[in-house]
Amino acid sequence: MIILKLGGSILTNKNSKKAEVNYTNLNRIANEIKNALINKGMDNFINNNSSDQGLVIIHGAGSYGHPPAKKYEIGNNFNNDEYPKKRIGFSKTQICVKKLNTIICDVLVNHGLPCVSIQASSFITTKNKRINNFNLDLIERYIDEGFIPVIYGDVVLDDELKVAVLSGDQILQYIAINLNLSSKSNKKEVILGTDVNGVYTKNPKKYDDAKHIPVLTSLDDIDELDSTTNIDVTGGMIGKIKELLELAELGIESKIINANEDGNILDALNNKDIKGTRIK
Ligand code: ADP
Repeated sequence: MIILKLGGSILTNKNSKKAEVNYTNLNRIANEIKNALINKGMDNFINNNSSDQGLVIIHGAGSYGHPPAKKYEIGNNFNNDEYPKKRIGFSKTQICVKKLNTIICDVLVNHGLPCVSIQASSFITTKNKRINNFNLDLIERYIDEGFIPVIYGDVVLDDELKVAVLSGDQILQYIAINLNLSSKSNKKEVILGTDVNGVYTKNPKKYDDAKHIPVLTSLDDIDELDSTTNIDVTGGMIGKIKELLELAELGIESKIINANEDGNILDALNNKDIKGTRIK
């Protein structure tokens, strides 16, 4: 099973106040995914080969999701009289991330990839921002039928907070742990594409002396827990690493790579050794 996360920093211009897709990256990455699947013999979308592997794509919300979620403070405690405004904020954020997902799926499908869009807000819930209800049956069924499910960071109902933001990184962790298909190999390849070469001792966009960490086994490997330089509301790089360390505890390794670099997604999917950080 390949679980591929494409960060909002890659697919959108994440620092922009306006919602903007990075079409150059999106088209290039769609092409790289397609070529990798052909190389791996997972080209059922061309000639109906059946493979013992499946692919799930998860993407972040970037400049589509974080600004409205931040503006309406989705995930913060609130008084009941503020609920009408909060509901509108929830609805607006849901529409924004859905639009991004539609654009992404459109491009992937135009590259011949049989994607199917899966909307977290329509069937996943959280309790205090952690997933407590996520039925994977339909996703498993789509994979069995040769589709590529594409699921994304979204707003969801929360049992404590009423509404919350669910990050693509948490979705990735849940899927990597819980997706087990009897028809497919259950060896998990977990790859996350972001806009830096993996994890550094500090934020490399802020500090010139940040040192690259090829293998990360603990948050203690990081000197400064400064989550991100952009508008991320779900914890940025540190949030990502926490999800991935929990995964590593269960024996599932993951790799963070730079998806801004030409060919990196292709090479990572083809198991070539490229610069990045392995979380183990
Ligand atoms: P994505 O949208 O791709 O999921 P995020 O914005 O959540 O990515 O996280 C990536 C950003 O995290 C980088 O652009 C970088 O500025 C920031 N960052 C903060 N601390 C670190 C660190 N120790 N190592 C690498 N990147 C870091």
